[in-house]
Amino acid sequence: QQDISVVPSDPSVKVVVRIRPGNWRERGDRTVRKVCPNSLVVGDRTFTFDSVVDSSSTQEDVFQLVGVPLVKNSLAGYNTSILSCGQTGSGKTYTMWGPPSAMVEGHSPISNQGIVPRIFQMLFTEIQEQENSEDKHINYQCRCSFLEIYNEQIGDLLDPTQRNLQIRDDAKNGFYVENLTEEYVTCYDDVTQILIKGLSNRKVGATTINSKSSRSHIVFTCVIESWCKGTSSKCFSSSKTSRISLIDVAGSERNKLDDAGRECVKEGRNVKKSLSQLGHLVHILAKGAQSERSENIPYTNSCLTHLLKESLGGNAKLTIICAISPDEKCKGETLSTLRFGVKAK
Ligand code: ADP
Ligand code: MG
Repeated sequence: QQDISVVPSDPSVKVVVRIRPGNWRERGDRTVRKVCPNSLVVGDRTFTFDSVVDSSSTQEDVFQLVGVPLVKNSLAGYNTSILSCGQTGSGKTYTMWGPPSAMVEGHSPISNQGIVPRIFQMLFTEIQEQENSEDKHINYQCRCSFLEIYNEQIGDLLDPTQRNLQIRDDAKNGFYVENLTEEYVTCYDDVTQILIKGLSNRKVGATTINSKSSRSHIVFTCVIESWCKGTSSKCFSSSKTSRISLIDVAGSERNKLDDAGRECVKEGRNVKKSLSQLGHLVHILAKGAQSERSENIPYTNSCLTHLLKESLGGNAKLTIICAISPDEKCKGETLSTLRFGVKAK
């Protein structure tokens, strides 16, 4: 049986860089390369992070590195998040979800599956083991939601008629997104159905590099509640709630173009603003400002940071995956993605 105790040295913010394999146009390009397990060079500059993976690492390797600790931490009661960032075409979506067909048994090579489906496979295996265990007496209940932030507006990916949803954050009802669909899930298949539905709703009208999908953030959330089956007072006090947030952020490239090649000034500005707010916020939290009063931390400056309020700082563990291309032509954007990662540490 696997030990699901938390690794004590697991930091609250971890930054992992993934260099995607070069495609046929980029082969032989050595501008960006991994030099040891936690550093890489870009041109003549060296960067060090918690881990660096390149084309020699599989989806399963990335899951072992990032997904396994997330599941362990989540079951231990931490709020956990993975956020993938980088320019369009750098591998964010591949890393997080993989091809949707790889989530369904018998389709696409299963080895292409991204971190997210692997996380839920492991999560439900662990949950079932604990629920069936003679000595643990724990019950779990999980519910999921899937949303998109486009131009600072929140849309429901499980119900596309719901647009411009509002974040509510009050003392009486706590923190939630009003009218967002939440679905109870009890097994891996329940989750894959939600993932496939949400991802296909994001894809509407999105086929080109400049499509809307490169200009929106998507956030998949799973809230896990657990409580003890017994009736002793010790059991009542042991109920826990934790939240898993899995975020695929909009392409960070500077100039957003519409499908006709015109620059989308407003969208570009919103994406840039929310990423810089996020970088700023993570920087404050990484510097150990957890003790700072939460009203002094600039959560509400953008939808993305506001949504992540419960998932950053305090009782939370965040992994940032900086996805980068090995291509010389992408060097400028690659450096800007790496600077974002450096700032978060
Ligand atoms: P992004 O979401 O950052 O825009 P994608 O995840 O869509 O980028 O990746 C762009 C292309 O590169 C896709 O065709 C994807 O399948 C491929 N790709 C990305 N990362 C990898 C990888 N590690 N191994 C193989 N193919 C990859
Ligand atoms: Mg993508």
